[in-house]
Amino acid sequence: STADIGLIGLAVMGSNLALNIAEKGYTVAVHNRSPGRIDEFVAEAKAQGLDGKTIPKYDLADFVQTVKAPRSIIIMVKAGQPVDDMIEQLLPHLEPGDAIIECGNSLYTDTQRRFDYLKPKNIGYLGVGVSGGEEGARHGPSIMVGGSKEQWHNAEPVLTAIAAKFNGESCCAYLGEGGAGHFVKMIHNGIEYGDMQMIAEIYGVMRDGLGMDPKACANVFQEWNKGPLNSYLIEITGHVLDAVDDQTGKPLVDLILDKAGQKGTGMWSAVVAQQMGVPATAIEGAVAARSLSSRKSERVAAEGVYGKPNRAKTDVTLADLEKALLAGKIVSYAQGFAVIAKASEEFGWSLPLATIAKIWRAGCIIRSRFLDQMSSAYAKGEAVNLLVVPDFVTIMKDSHPSLRKVVAAAAIGEFPMICLSASLSYFDSYRQAQGTANLTQGQRDFFGAHGFEIEGRGTDLHGTWPSTLGK
Ligand code: NDP
Repeated sequence: STADIGLIGLAVMGSNLALNIAEKGYTVAVHNRSPGRIDEFVAEAKAQGLDGKTIPKYDLADFVQTVKAPRSIIIMVKAGQPVDDMIEQLLPHLEPGDAIIECGNSLYTDTQRRFDYLKPKNIGYLGVGVSGGEEGARHGPSIMVGGSKEQWHNAEPVLTAIAAKFNGESCCAYLGEGGAGHFVKMIHNGIEYGDMQMIAEIYGVMRDGLGMDPKACANVFQEWNKGPLNSYLIEITGHVLDAVDDQTGKPLVDLILDKAGQKGTGMWSAVVAQQMGVPATAIEGAVAARSLSSRKSERVAAEGVYGKPNRAKTDVTLADLEKALLAGKIVSYAQGFAVIAKASEEFGWSLPLATIAKIWRAGCIIRSRFLDQMSSAYAKGEAVNLLVVPDFVTIMKDSHPSLRKVVAAAAIGEFPMICLSASLSYFDSYRQAQGTANLTQGQRDFFGAHGFEIEGRGTDLHGTWPSTLGK
């Protein structure tokens, strides 16, 4: 046995991860169901001068035997049934103490199920969230590890080495048992949906309210990337807005159809948040916005009914838009982290919030300067909600008036702001000591005798309500 680690699944992500592992000096045995992909990988590894550190194996049993025991075997195949099939095929060849490290976009409940299935067989199971796409896989992704702690220690040197680095610190960490890693990856994606939607809403005001062309918008995003909003998504927004179509010479963004796709991780984040009773309105708004966007023909018809939106020029400034985006983002992250904190409690994971913010600082799609501030703030003491973490209270006090101004202007100017307005309403609901649920409770007791609480008098009280029968 000569390989430090094995890897199965040589499509985009797997082949790049294998090259990354080889480049860091570890020997990696590789295998793929279709042999053609192995041939392609061999050629690529050779072209990159990494063939000395890669061992291609066309036979699964032979592949497993090539890996040093206790074995760490990464599987990077299509999420869903293929992962279960792969586990079944591997099992006869594994020995107690070996570990399967599944790095695809699996649903955390599937990961938890596989972890529970393999535990009695003494086979470790690590469910690992990998973010950063193709480039991240090759040069350093953010790696969120969950599962068998014992086997994690065997794989730790390799996974730590291949992850992105932020100021020299690896963006890879063990987060908790079972499905913890994939849960955190799912919420990462939910937060990503929120970030992208809020950026799109701000772009809408620039385009239709301030009359800016894509080039002018691009310049603003490039400028913002030097400030508190500095992040990968703001950076690529600048590039997307700057791109020109080869065929027509027009800005590419003006030609792209306004229908957003989705693969489900945002929706799952929103569903889980609702199931756990944690409001994540920014993620919900972002998922809803994508779904609405995809109903293009309905929207076209509805515009025919109501007429074009009356988008008179707005008096919001670019400085307001920048601060509004920052405030919206703080609320969205507060919600995402609250979902993680609740899952930690519910599943007994002890998820480390400061560490999660840390490993998202580089490599992943939501990487940003903001996450560095967030990890430092959480490191001083994890609060129930980011909105009451002192460093963020300061930023929020400075920026929420702009969010207010922008959402108000959007309402008057007939701009949709599903995500930013949801963030603002969440903030306003969260920070008010006296809300309006007293009325809701009164109604619930009226029609369903659900009871209400009066301080100093008890919890399961009822009103004497008039009868509405026969009216
Ligand atoms: P795909 O999701 O396109 O999966 C293709 C790979 O899965 C091939 O190696 C294929 O083998 C293998 N496969 C499919 N079905 C089976 C099966 N029944 N048994 C054995 N192998 C099978 O590859 P990607 O590289 O795009 O993604 C891999 C994982 O990483 C997915 O879970 C994806 O969601 C996740 N991911 C992807 C990112 C991306 O940017 N692409 C980013 C982050 C995560 P064969 O060649 O024989 O068909």
